[in-house]
Amino acid sequence: MAFYSPKIEGQPVFQSAPVDDAQLIPAVQTIVQEFEGDKTRLMDIVLAVHQRYGHIPDAAVEAIASGVNMQAVEVTSMISFYAFLNREPKGRFQIRLCKTPMSLMKGAEDVALAFTRATGAQIGGVSPDGEFSLDWTSDIGMADQEPSALVNGTMLTSLTPDAVTNIVAALREYPKDTPYPLFPGADGKGMPIPHSQVQASLIQPGPIIFRRGAQRGESINAALAIPPEAVIEALNKARLRGRGGAGFPTSTKWKLCREAAGSEHYVVCNADEGEPGTFKDRVLLALAPDLVFDGMTVAAYAIGARTGLVYLRGEYAYLREPLQRVLNQRREAGLLGQNICGRQGFDFDIRIQLGAGAYICGEESALIQSLEGKRGAPRDRPPFPVSCGYLNQPTAVDNVETFCCAARIMEQSADWFSRYGTEQSTGTRLLSVSGDCAQPGVYEVPFGMTVNVLLALVGGTGASFVQIGGPSGECVAPKDYGRRIAFEDLATGGSVIIFGPGRNVLEVALQFIEFFAEESCGWCTPCRVGTALLQQQLEKIIADRGTKADLNAMEALCNTIRRTSRCGLGQTAPNPILSTIRNFPEAYAVKLRKEEFTPRVTLQEALAEAVEVQGRRPLAGEQ
Ligand code: SF4
Repeated sequence: MAFYSPKIEGQPVFQSAPVDDAQLIPAVQTIVQEFEGDKTRLMDIVLAVHQRYGHIPDAAVEAIASGVNMQAVEVTSMISFYAFLNREPKGRFQIRLCKTPMSLMKGAEDVALAFTRATGAQIGGVSPDGEFSLDWTSDIGMADQEPSALVNGTMLTSLTPDAVTNIVAALREYPKDTPYPLFPGADGKGMPIPHSQVQASLIQPGPIIFRRGAQRGESINAALAIPPEAVIEALNKARLRGRGGAGFPTSTKWKLCREAAGSEHYVVCNADEGEPGTFKDRVLLALAPDLVFDGMTVAAYAIGARTGLVYLRGEYAYLREPLQRVLNQRREAGLLGQNICGRQGFDFDIRIQLGAGAYICGEESALIQSLEGKRGAPRDRPPFPVSCGYLNQPTAVDNVETFCCAARIMEQSADWFSRYGTEQSTGTRLLSVSGDCAQPGVYEVPFGMTVNVLLALVGGTGASFVQIGGPSGECVAPKDYGRRIAFEDLATGGSVIIFGPGRNVLEVALQFIEFFAEESCGWCTPCRVGTALLQQQLEKIIADRGTKADLNAMEALCNTIRRTSRCGLGQTAPNPILSTIRNFPEAYAVKLRKEEFTPRVTLQEALAEAVEVQGRRPLAGEQ
């Protein structure tokens, strides 16, 4: 096992101006050498270059390509996939404002205006002095602390127009020749600028699974006391289902992975929660990192892996250093490395791979592509990752929360775990609660809790509608607040967004469709074109220009996209429209024009001249 990390000397200088090739090329070559010219580490190489220069100039692309033995066009193609990687110089301070229904509800547009006034940069542009660039970005995992923004990787939360004035003033204080670290926070607290403190709270009204008093490594010792097959059987007995959203039985996944032939087996932790409104994994990684790593190590023992990878979304870059420190402590404690917990031959270590802003990388095959230093486009399945995953070897990809559950099952028991929840959804669920409620945050609740009870718990009683499971989930109307949060009823990857009186359900659906259109990787036509068409069709209805025929056509298009898209993003992208048509028919009914559209020109009339010019005989039905 070799986990080489960049050892770039000195503090990286973040530059926005064009760079002299004579200085740049040797620096880039040094970075490539730090990663031993390994093209599967292309993401790290590109991120290191980006961190130093604030963008990736052409000469850097050439130097990287030559260092990792690829074509420059391949490197360019990879870079272009990720939203956080710039090819052109931008502002010295790159401000990315979160644009979601939750941030807009909390005043993100006023904050954007304040940034525009204070910096002189328009959205999508750079300030005249070249100091600031300003862009909207998708959800950055701060739905409980909106409006939020990233400034060169530093997370700013609970922003107000007044705060923006202070922030921009503080940024202007940094002298031009002062290094400005991209991914700050040795202590996880971000830069010393106002509003750079992220709150991480876990609220537990009932049973406690995730916060615990146990020693780190306790679950590993418990696992090592029984054969690997018995570990998998314990998860089966606990009826643990994956917490990423799909709810696949974890024991089945680990069993298939263990039994698959390969020269290596891998454990991958999916810490790329990009579903708007989800932020529970951020909180788990901040408050219970040992539980996550314990679970990964238990998985390694169960499936026979020597290497684990945490794919950490680029938005959570501030967590990398604290997590790295925990990994180092675990190595010193004999919980990672060779002969773990004294067990001869049980060798396992974990590397953190940072992403660079691509929602689709939350899909496991896209995540694996990105881990390998490629564009994060989903793979065709089968084969599934359990038999052909990272570097084409058997790989178990699981959610942060799933690993925590597995560790707790080992440490306590399968019976203890399955005591909570329902028959088909055992244990508890972490819910990221945001929107119109008194106490947003992460809640640990037993599976089976009704929406009504949850709303009372979080101070959201009287909500007009609740989005369960993010944009790809279900928009629930008050008549259905008796429904239960569980895999067998309202399944969710953890996102619960509450919309109070006065919120417009169609506007929210439109914002979600815009999100999918923006995040489509573009590989297949139904998703790429279909989501853009859905956006147009819904805009037409919202503008009171649609008819019943338009609504029917939009619904038909939704079904086509669901049926024919290649991966989960496209297959669930129409959900905001389908679930609102199903649950809020009256919201559409009042927007539809009563009269049906009657075209002024028929197809026959439009073609009449061409028919005559060609001397063609009219077809049946043509005059
Ligand atoms: Fe890409 Fe969308 Fe097709 Fe998935 S469904 S492969 S995200 S274009």
